[in-house]
Amino acid sequence: MNFQNTLQYAQELDKEDPLRSYRKEFLFPKVNGKKVIYFTGNSLGLQPKKAKEYVDEVMTDWAELAVEGHFQGKKAWWDYHERFSAKLAPIVGAKPEEVTVMNTLTVNLHLLMVSFYRPTSKRFKIIMEEKAFPSDQYMIASQVRFHGLDPKEVIVEVKKREGEHHFRTEDILQMIEEVGEECALVLMGGVNYYNGQVLDMKTITKAGKEIGAFVGWDLAHAAGNIELKLHDWGVDFAAWCSYKYMNSGPGNASGCFIHEQYHNRKDIPRLEGWWGHNKERRFLMEPEFQPEPTAHAWQISNAPILALAPYLASLELFEEVEMPALIQKRDKIVAYLEFILQEVAKEVGGDFEIITPKERGTQLSVFLHGQGKDLFNYLMKNGVITDWREPNVIRLAPAPFYCSFEDIYEFGQVLKGYFGKE
Ligand SMILES: *Cc1c(COP(=O)(O)O)cnc(C)c1O
Repeated sequence: MNFQNTLQYAQELDKEDPLRSYRKEFLFPKVNGKKVIYFTGNSLGLQPKKAKEYVDEVMTDWAELAVEGHFQGKKAWWDYHERFSAKLAPIVGAKPEEVTVMNTLTVNLHLLMVSFYRPTSKRFKIIMEEKAFPSDQYMIASQVRFHGLDPKEVIVEVKKREGEHHFRTEDILQMIEEVGEECALVLMGGVNYYNGQVLDMKTITKAGKEIGAFVGWDLAHAAGNIELKLHDWGVDFAAWCSYKYMNSGPGNASGCFIHEQYHNRKDIPRLEGWWGHNKERRFLMEPEFQPEPTAHAWQISNAPILALAPYLASLELFEEVEMPALIQKRDKIVAYLEFILQEVAKEVGGDFEIITPKERGTQLSVFLHGQGKDLFNYLMKNGVITDWREPNVIRLAPAPFYCSFEDIYEFGQVLKGYFGKE
């Protein structure tokens, strides 16, 4: 692509963008009366306009129907969560019955580890990546201690090589081979939150399965961002939050994938509750638990309808647009961002080292040699919302649903302004 660093060129790209009309489906914060340039869709996606309508609908049903809303609501509450499965399945590459929505991400990873981490004296190790998202580190270590084991003896971390910013697939595969029959579980982030790297989930899953381990993925930064084929890759389980690329609202519900081979299996334990009980018999209040024959068996409590409503609104946009179109725009807009960064670096004599490898989704992580948090603050003040990670990295994620090519061009201008000011 022969990109150009001009406003006119960026506007041309916007005109050709098949997704351009979706920008107006989202609400943008404003700085100095202008819509911000929002590069933190990897942290909290923007609010879809439709979200409020969906929440209002629940509020109205609650006001007008009260308890009858469980069955008489415009979208009945008793099986509200089931509406998500068919919409999420194509986003993560699953069968609808393999997907459910419940709780929040770290909670779900805990629940899934109850099912899929059952250490024995011979097979007890867990392979993960170094410097995983802190919640994942705490979650895994606490699970290990819960089993009476020592995290230092159980958790094996794949490391980046000296001087490199990304993980090498070959190093992960070698680690899997080395740990071999002692490995109970491989559990990693499908897209690394820090450097934006997309791991080769297909190959790693296959290798983990070959040594007889379970393989699970934290897809917080992957769901709604990259192509996923969880079923075909033979992934055992996965979970993701919905408030990042999926635009469902702060702290909102998590999605779970549980491969169909584990449905209806008595040898796979679960922590159970009434919402996982056979739906036809749920309200008979019987003493014996009868699991749903799907991923819904992992449900525990009745669903938080007010929280789920905006997620459902957001998923309807995904249903209209579908992942391939998002991915196509993503690749182009991220490539344009990379180009603009390079152009600005040349003009101002700056050094912006992109540490995200070519296996990437929406996010570019940029190492700012010498530029401290000042730059981040300057961008903020000038209406560019980015994300700062210690010690010296900004993360830029122009979500294809609502970011424009003009945003990218304007970002370059603001960035130049910072250096001009110096
Ligand atoms: C965002 C994120 C989380 C957040 O977990 P919550 O339980 O939703 O607070 C967990 N893991 C990863 C990898 C993340 O990126």
